[in-house]
Amino acid sequence: MNPFTYTRAGDAQQAINAFQGSPGPFYVAGATDVMQLLREDVYSPGTLVDISSLPYTQVEVGPRGARIGALARLADVADDDAVLRYYPLLARVLRETASTQIRNVATMGGNLLQRTRCLYFRDAHTACNKRRPGSGCAAMRGANRINAILGTSEQCIAAYPGDMAVALVVLDAHIQLEGPDGPRSVPVAELHRVPADDPAHDTTLRPGEIITRIDLPASRFAESCAFVKARDRMTFEWALASAAVGLEMDGGTVRVARVAAGGVGTVPWPLPRVEHALIGKALSAERAAKAAALSVEGARSAGDNGFKLKLLPRVVEQAILAAGGQA
Ligand SMILES: Cc1cc2nc3c(=O)[nH]c(=O)nc-3n(C[C@H](O)[C@H](O)[C@H](O)COP(=O)(O)OP(=O)(O)OC[C@H]3O[C@@H](n4cnc5c(N)ncnc54)[C@H](O)[C@@H]3O)c2cc1C
Repeated sequence: MNPFTYTRAGDAQQAINAFQGSPGPFYVAGATDVMQLLREDVYSPGTLVDISSLPYTQVEVGPRGARIGALARLADVADDDAVLRYYPLLARVLRETASTQIRNVATMGGNLLQRTRCLYFRDAHTACNKRRPGSGCAAMRGANRINAILGTSEQCIAAYPGDMAVALVVLDAHIQLEGPDGPRSVPVAELHRVPADDPAHDTTLRPGEIITRIDLPASRFAESCAFVKARDRMTFEWALASAAVGLEMDGGTVRVARVAAGGVGTVPWPLPRVEHALIGKALSAERAAKAAALSVEGARSAGDNGFKLKLLPRVVEQAILAAGGQA
């Protein structure tokens, strides 16, 4: 680990000032990802700006919407009675995230911005266009079992690893930001960016911007939602493939469907073709399977991760049926 300067910010403006005035700065909140990246020499900050004391820990939730502070701990949100009642999809996803110990420390904003688990991004001695632009992508011909099959480019096949963002896409969350140019809001579906020819930039955040809050519109899908996560072990483990589904049913017919996938894309992956194949149709095992088959349209295997082409449709199918009460 390289030496760096540590500074703790008392408010957003102090944090932004510290970020702007220092070389190679990084924000740190719960530090569950940042510490690993420091130890692995993936991050070599000049300055680490600690934002964990900023007052963004609220969990305000009701039927007409939710405002959740970016520094709220995952456990506090997962166990909140109103979250369980009005946004059970979010509670479910958070309870399947990492482990109890990590959920007690990790924050909502940090979870959204955690970096890829690609083995080569995390190994500072290998070629990685995301870590060192222009150095190549060792994952293309390497051990790429956990890597992405959707949204990849010639430069990068790193999967976005987080669970929560997948549910937030289904729930139409907006991310509130504070930065050098003032506050702004982005839909969660526009927060992460596919690698294309610039894999180094994972998100659309501008330099120095802090996530302050996650806003959810009025409660939807509380009656009919599901999250299915396939992983190598039942805890402490990221998704190989996951699906979040929210349905509004009219008797046995799907009136509204929102579906997104995780662990398979370079970003949390919305599945509009799957949604369209469900809307206006009677929900059945056959319909769910047909719709789920569309989840891998345009997907490309890099070798080891080819099994995801079969796994993803099964995970999506299970989630659709579970959301519709037919699992
Ligand atoms: C063993 C293990 C298993 C895990 N399993 C899962 C899993 O199954 N599913 C899953 O989703 N995650 C999993 N994780 C990841 C874990 O959830 C994240 O590390 C955690 O949520 C990050 O939150 P943090 O507050 O510790 O972020 P930090 O480590 O402090 O920061 C992470 C990143 O976000 C930036 N950042 C943090 N907060 C803000 C903010 N408010 N504004 C701007 N930038 C910010 C930091 O600069 C940094 O780049 C696992 C982690 C471990 C160690």
